[in-house]
Amino acid sequence: MQEGILIIGAGGVSRVGVYKCAENIDTFKKITLVSRTLKKCEIIQKEIKDKYKIHIDIAKLDADDSEATYKLIEKIKPKIVLNLALPFQDLSIMDACIKAKVSYIDTANYEPKDEAKFEYKLQWQKDKAFKDAGICALLGSGFDPGVTGVFCAYAQKHHFDEIFNIDIFDCNAGDNGHAFATNFNPEINLREVSAKGRFWQEGKWIETKPLEQKIIWDYPKIGKKASYLLYHEELESLCKNIKGVKRIRFFMTFSDSYITHMNCLQNVGMLGIKEINHKGQKIIPLEFLKTLLPEPASLACKTKGLTNIGCVIEGKKDGKNKKIYIYNICSHEESFKKTNSGGVSFTTGVPAMIGLKMLYLGLWDKKGVFNIEEFDPDPFMDELNTQGLPWQIKVMK
Ligand code: NDP
Repeated sequence: MQEGILIIGAGGVSRVGVYKCAENIDTFKKITLVSRTLKKCEIIQKEIKDKYKIHIDIAKLDADDSEATYKLIEKIKPKIVLNLALPFQDLSIMDACIKAKVSYIDTANYEPKDEAKFEYKLQWQKDKAFKDAGICALLGSGFDPGVTGVFCAYAQKHHFDEIFNIDIFDCNAGDNGHAFATNFNPEINLREVSAKGRFWQEGKWIETKPLEQKIIWDYPKIGKKASYLLYHEELESLCKNIKGVKRIRFFMTFSDSYITHMNCLQNVGMLGIKEINHKGQKIIPLEFLKTLLPEPASLACKTKGLTNIGCVIEGKKDGKNKKIYIYNICSHEESFKKTNSGGVSFTTGVPAMIGLKMLYLGLWDKKGVFNIEEFDPDPFMDELNTQGLPWQIKVMK
C-alpha cells in the first residue's frame, strides 16, 4: 500500500517543507527525506525530532540517477514524491515516478545543467506517460511559480469575466548584512537574473536585455523599490492557461549592490557555465563562485525584514474595468522562528507542502502533467491563510 510522502533534496526550501509536513503529520502519516548529502538529512531529522517529537526516515540518493530514484521509490512506497532538489533533477525524478506510478510535485521547471535555459516543454511532453500511469505531476508548487499562479486562477474564478493584464511583483526587502549573497541556490538564482528579460504581449514574446526595464513599485508595508523586468517560468504557463490574457510581465527587486556585483562577476566570466581549464583542472566558474558565496540557508538567522510577492490583475467584471492586487507579506524573522529558515525558503516550502496536501487528500485529482493554475484555487487559498502565508486583496483605481 502506498502511504506517506518522499521528499528529495535537503536544502533551505526542503527544511521548511519537512517542518510543515511534520506540522501536518495527521494528513501525511509518514515522511521520508532523501538527498545527495546524508549529513544534511540527518540535521533536519534531528531538528524534527527535537521540535515535533516525530521520527522521519532518511536516506542518501543521487537523484540524477533515475533508476536509483525509481528503486528507492519502490522500496519506500510513498503516495507522492516532492522534488525539492534542483531543477536539473526534474526529468530524472519524473521518469522514476512514471515507472513507479507515484505522483510528482516540484517548485521549479527543468533546466539543463550546461545551458542557462528553462522551459516547460520537456516536462509537458510527459503528459501522456503520466496519464497512462494514472498519476499526476503538479508543476511549480512554490511561491513564484506557485502561489502567483493560484492568485491568477482565483482572480479568474471570483473577480473577472475577462483578464487583460497580469503583472507579478516580487520584492525581497530582507537584509542579511552581506554586500552580495543570493537568497536561494546561487547557481539557479544567478542564471535566472543574468539572462535576457522577456514578457508576453498580444500573442508573442518580447525580449529585453538583462535588467534593461525598470519600474518603481510601491510594495505594501515595504515602500517604493526599483523592480526589474525578468523572464520567469510561470509566464510560459499563465499565458496559455489564463484565457484571453493580453500581457503578462514579471518584476523583481534587486539592490544596487547586488546588481553591481553581478555585473562585475559576469564581465569577468564568473557566471560561466561551461567547463574551463584552471591549472590543469576542469572547473565551471559558476560552480566555483557558489563555493565562495554564503550558503543561503546559513543567512536565515541574520536576515531581517519582509518579503512581498503578489499579482496586479486588470480586466473586466460585469462590463466594468477592474484592477486588483493580491499579495502576501512574509517576515524573515518570523519564518526563522517557525522553521529555522529565511523568508524565501518559507514562502516556497509552505506552498510545496500545500500542493502535497491537495494531491494527498484528493482535493486536486487529475491524471497527467499540470501547472498549478489549472486546479481549483479555493482549497489552496484557504490553506495559505492557515499555514502561515495569509494573503490580501486590494482593489486599485
Ligand atoms: P538548495 O541548494 O539549498 O538545496 C538543494 C538540495 O538539493 C540540496 O540539499 C542538494 O544536495 C540537493 N541536491 C542537489 N542535487 C541533487 C541530486 N543530484 N540528488 C539529490 N539531491 C540533490 O536549494 P533551495 O532549497 O534554495 O531550492 C530548492 C528548489 O526550490 C530549487 O529547485 C529552486 O529552484 C526552487 N525554488 C523555487 C522557488 C519558487 O518560488 N517556486 C523559490 C526558491 C527556490 P547537496 O546539499 O548535496 O548539494
